[in-house]
Amino acid sequence: ASISVPTLALNPNRGGPENLPVLDSTLDALDSELKGELSLNKPKLVILGSGWASVGLLKTLKPGDYDVTVISPTNYFLFTPLLPCAATGTLEVKSLMASIRKIVNDLSGHYLEAKAEKIEFEDKLVKVTSAYDESAQFYVPYDKLVVAVGCTSNTHGVQGLEYCSRLKTANDAIDIRKKIKANLEKSCLPTTTDEERRRLLSFVVCGGGPTGVEFAAEVFDLLNEDLPKSYPKLLRQEVSVHIIQSRSNILNTYDERIAEYATKRFINENIDVQINSRVEKILEDRVIFKKKNDKDGSVTLEEIPFGLCLWSTGVAQNPLAKNVTDSLPDHQKNRRAIETDSYLRVLGAPDVYAIGDCSTVKTDLADHAVDFVRNFIIKKHLHGISSDQISENDIKHLSLTYDEICEMGKELMKKQPQTREHLITLKDSLPQYDSASCGKLNFDQITSLLKNVEKQVTSLPATAQRAHQQGKYLGKKFNKLAKKLSLVENPNVTSFRSENPLKTDLDLATVGTTTLIFTDEEVYKPFRYVHLGSLAYIGNSAVFDLPGYSFVGGLVAMYLWRSIYFAQTVSIRTRVLLFMDWLKRGFFGRDILSE
Ligand code: FAD
Repeated sequence: ASISVPTLALNPNRGGPENLPVLDSTLDALDSELKGELSLNKPKLVILGSGWASVGLLKTLKPGDYDVTVISPTNYFLFTPLLPCAATGTLEVKSLMASIRKIVNDLSGHYLEAKAEKIEFEDKLVKVTSAYDESAQFYVPYDKLVVAVGCTSNTHGVQGLEYCSRLKTANDAIDIRKKIKANLEKSCLPTTTDEERRRLLSFVVCGGGPTGVEFAAEVFDLLNEDLPKSYPKLLRQEVSVHIIQSRSNILNTYDERIAEYATKRFINENIDVQINSRVEKILEDRVIFKKKNDKDGSVTLEEIPFGLCLWSTGVAQNPLAKNVTDSLPDHQKNRRAIETDSYLRVLGAPDVYAIGDCSTVKTDLADHAVDFVRNFIIKKHLHGISSDQISENDIKHLSLTYDEICEMGKELMKKQPQTREHLITLKDSLPQYDSASCGKLNFDQITSLLKNVEKQVTSLPATAQRAHQQGKYLGKKFNKLAKKLSLVENPNVTSFRSENPLKTDLDLATVGTTTLIFTDEEVYKPFRYVHLGSLAYIGNSAVFDLPGYSFVGGLVAMYLWRSIYFAQTVSIRTRVLLFMDWLKRGFFGRDILSE
């Protein structure tokens, strides 16, 4: 006879803070047990978010080791790099979405369409609100928690952003498509004046980073390729695309040659690039910005009327991430992101991990760099001399060779294994310093080099690439932890305890009478980011900024660019849909104009 057991239920006997109910997956575990799967003892792994970082983790986890629950207000994964194409009708928005439920089902996990509000670190509970009903709130218990909630866009304190479009979610792309189509149609009405038509057909992008640039390039393609066919009566010269960028080039985080190339190409294509310009205020129909003149340094106040304005400048902290940093004030000092150690554990909460755009890896190398270099120089060159006879001047005048600096790096790593990434970055940076200073570096040069290394390692970019790598890293580590404890196979594992606040339930297992303790350090290496390069579409060509090599390509590069993204997409369904969209666009043009 079939037994009906609810998949997830609220525990009638356990109340959380604020008297809210607590979720109990034991009933579900019981259900699985009845089906023959032993799951009562599985550690509860709760993952917040369904973006790049979470999917990297979910796709790497081995099914069966954890009781997985994913909480996110979006029940799909969004392939963000192609979002500018979806906003302009080159691709369908749906083609960029993959069902998160399907991915979670592969792990026999649970998905809750809800938003995490705050974390009760002491009680190991996450407060959750339904995505549909703000009064439907409950707590979800965890043994291990992964925060991967991404970030929001940075307002830079500018007023009037309510008049701007954003491009972060699937709904944003749909809204932009509707707005473009509406503006084109309004432009053709006999009641529209010439001035109003020019405003409706003016597209302004605030921010010259990859997203803004790709969107501007896609809009430009749309207006050039599809407008003449669908709106032959609209004059091309009435249509305009503008980018407002605070730096001297667009794509300024890319190699300098690429940034210059992209800026020149846009200018040649008649895209209006306003460099050295800072947005002051956005009004309902125009952007007001300050422009610094390159030649005499004078600043003028300028304005551009718009029909559509995209705000695409930088990232800011997600509210949940802010709750995490505010709740752990003794450990979290960064106001932009949750700080983790190099094993991606949240500083101040070792059971909780933070990955992706909401997090940053912190090490304290910079704080100790000066002392460390001083001690190493003394050991190497002033060995045996008593410390009161050594003056600062003596130390400052001594230098270390390339090999000695590498030796220092290795010593540092022995003391602090989490600085492995620093040693690699140090070795990468050394040849440039080395050639500039005839093979030796003095005290000041070495300390500034170490500080620079620290900066490079900790200020990793907020990209899909990094988020995905961090998710995969955690997945591999969790698999290792589960294997180490032989959770499922070992019948002697009787209980999990968390007496030591530094060890999590999962890390402590009692086998017979012996307690096994595993820390992240024991089972896995620290996280290391591998930069695979950046690319951006700049209108019928693409720029590639690969490590040690950057180039610009025409059509071939563009197809290469597309095939790289093609291979990166998570499901076969998405690949098929994308391929069909590109075919459709090739034969019939973009769909946006008939929406
Ligand atoms: P996200 O992918 O943003 O996922 C965050 C998840 O958390 C979402 O599912 C969200 O719904 C969920 N969430 C939010 N709040 C809560 C909450 N309170 N509780 C539970 N869940 C919550 N990067 C590249 O490397 N290359 C590119 O070409 C590129 N192009 C881009 C183009 C665009 C238009 C955009 C917007 C971004 C682009 N990026 C690119 C950046 C990339 O998308 C991000 O770096 C990446 O999405 C970060 O992944 P994440 O998992 O940290 O966050």
